[in-house]
Formats: sequence, C-alpha cells, structure tokens
Amino acid sequence: MPFTLPTDIQNRPVAVIGAGTLGRRIALMFATRGGEVRIYDRSADAEEAAVAYVRENVAEVAATVEGGSPGRVVFTSDLAEALAGAWLVVEAIPERLDLKKEIFGQLDRAADADAILASNSSSYPTSQFIDRVEHPERVLNMHFYMPPKQNAIDIMSDGHTDRGIIDLLKRELPHYGVFPFEAHKESTGFIFNRVWAAIKRESLAVVAEGVSTPQDVDRMWQINMGTPAGPFRMMDQVGLDVVLDIEEHYAAERPGLPGGPRELLRKYVDAGHLGVKTGRGFYDDYTGGKK
Ligand code: NAD
Repeated sequence: MPFTLPTDIQNRPVAVIGAGTLGRRIALMFATRGGEVRIYDRSADAEEAAVAYVRENVAEVAATVEGGSPGRVVFTSDLAEALAGAWLVVEAIPERLDLKKEIFGQLDRAADADAILASNSSSYPTSQFIDRVEHPERVLNMHFYMPPKQNAIDIMSDGHTDRGIIDLLKRELPHYGVFPFEAHKESTGFIFNRVWAAIKRESLAVVAEGVSTPQDVDRMWQINMGTPAGPFRMMDQVGLDVVLDIEEHYAAERPGLPGGPRELLRKYVDAGHLGVKTGRGFYDDYTGGKK
C-alpha cells in the first residue's frame, strides 16, 4: 500500500521508542498540546524515571508553548500497544547501527500505514538503517538537541523520504515548542552539531597548542557571547569520552582534521577524567554531579 500523509494528527498519539536521556525529553515536548504520548522501552526499569520526568515538567513547559496544555504520558513495554494509532514515532534507543536497523524493521511492520517513522540518532543518517524497511518514504532523521532548553531540531531525508512529511513536520513541530531546520543534503552531524564541532575543535586546539587555558577560553566566551557556560564547561557536561568519540567519527570521515584536539581529549579520558560524571574533567569543581 502506498504511503499517505497522516491526518487528524491533533487527536492521535505520538510514540517515543526508548525512555532514556533523550526519549523522556522528546516525550515531554510532545505532551505539551494536551494529547497522549506513549513511551516504549524494552526495559520496564526505565518507566518510573521517564514518566516521573514528564509529569514533573509538563505543566511548566506547556505554559511556554503557545496554545499549549499539559497532555498525558503513558508507558508501555508492548511495542504494538505503543504504536497503535500513533501518527508519529520517534526512535531514541542507543546509538548502535545493529539496534537501529532492527527497530526500524519492527516499526515499519507494526506502525499504522500512515505513521511517520523518525530517528533521533546523533550520528547516523537514516539511509543507513532502512534495509529492513518496506516504506523508506516514511522514514527520516529528526534530531533533537536537549529539550526543553535547546529546542532546535535537524530534519533530514533518508534519500527516499516523502517531501510531504518534511513540509508537514516543518509546519506542525513548532506547535509543540520545537523548531525544525532541514538539512538539504545528507550530512554527518546534520547542521548545528557540525558548527558546534568546529567550535569545540578550535577551542581544544588553542589549549593543546599551549596558547590558552580552558578557564580563559570559557571566560572569554562568556564575556563575548553572553552565555552562562563556555565550550570546556559544556564538554565536561556532555562527557569527554563522548566528545572524543564524536570527534573520532568526524575525523574518520574527513581526513585532514587536526589531531591536537583528539590528543588533548585522550589525555583526560585515559586519566579517567571524563567531566561531570566522574567529578573531574577540564574543571575539578563538580560536587554531587550537579555542576
Ligand atoms: P540512553 O542510553 O539514555 O537511553 C536509551 C534507552 O533505550 C534506554 O532506556 C534503553 O533501555 C532503551 N532501549 C535499548 N534498546 C531498546 C529497544 N530495542 N527498544 C526499546 N528501547 C530500547 O540514550 P540517549 O542518550 O537517550 O540516546 C538515545 C538516542 O538519542 C541515540 O541515538 C543518541 O545518539 C541520540 N541523542 C542523544 C543525545 C544526548 O545528549 N544524550 C542528544 C541527541 C541525540
């Protein structure tokens, strides 16, 4: 059956697959229009924290969304139950290609025929995991940053995505307080992640070359850009092992990137100083994982 765009979306649920760091935040945003959001995770342990997170925050976040009102969140560990009637399915399971391929095959078989199937993957274009999908025209990347604070989204075709889906999402997503930007070509890192990667890389290079210190770079950044945290503080928050993995991925795809930034990161990672999560990274003033 050929794919047709979903209709009556105001009265249909959104399903989020994966209840981790991002899944629960994505669910929160889709719960800001008074409708139902279903969170599916194969681990029932994920339920309590994810549902509590959405319930605790939904009233406050819905109040920031024009025309918003708190919706309902439901957890299930039954995939068919999560998908029934959903107009949009957003996958946010771990960043492993084998898992992504498997789940997209399942979603394509089990979701309603007109459901849009989106992936929150940070680094894989969806063109890489549609080999078990019969309807690649309904699949695309929809990459969130860190809602409800960082609400820009990259959207990107898998090479076959129905143009109507991209237009529909550009029109509808702002109603949920998130703002889509289309990558017009396939791009590892989409749009903003690439810009941010360049900032991180050059900040690291300045320190690796002995030109400056993490503290001074951050302070200059704060003064000139007017933001509360600079690049080094932000890298500590993400985790220096994760920052290194991301940079390795870019370096593998684009030979010629300078090695100094990765060498500096490796020193910290090898010493076990991964940032906030280990209590020490470029900074050592983290207490109770709060900073
Ligand atoms: P996470 O590890 O916090 O959560 C993943 C969840 O998926 C876990 O609750 C796990 O139980 C569940 N899960 C694993 N396999 C599953 C399956 N087959 N079916 C259903 N649930 C399954 O991961 P995360 O940090 O939320 O990342 C999820 C995705 O979002 C990744 O693709 C990542 O690249 C992307 N992403 C992460 C961030 C971030 O800052 N963490 C930002 C943007 C995008």
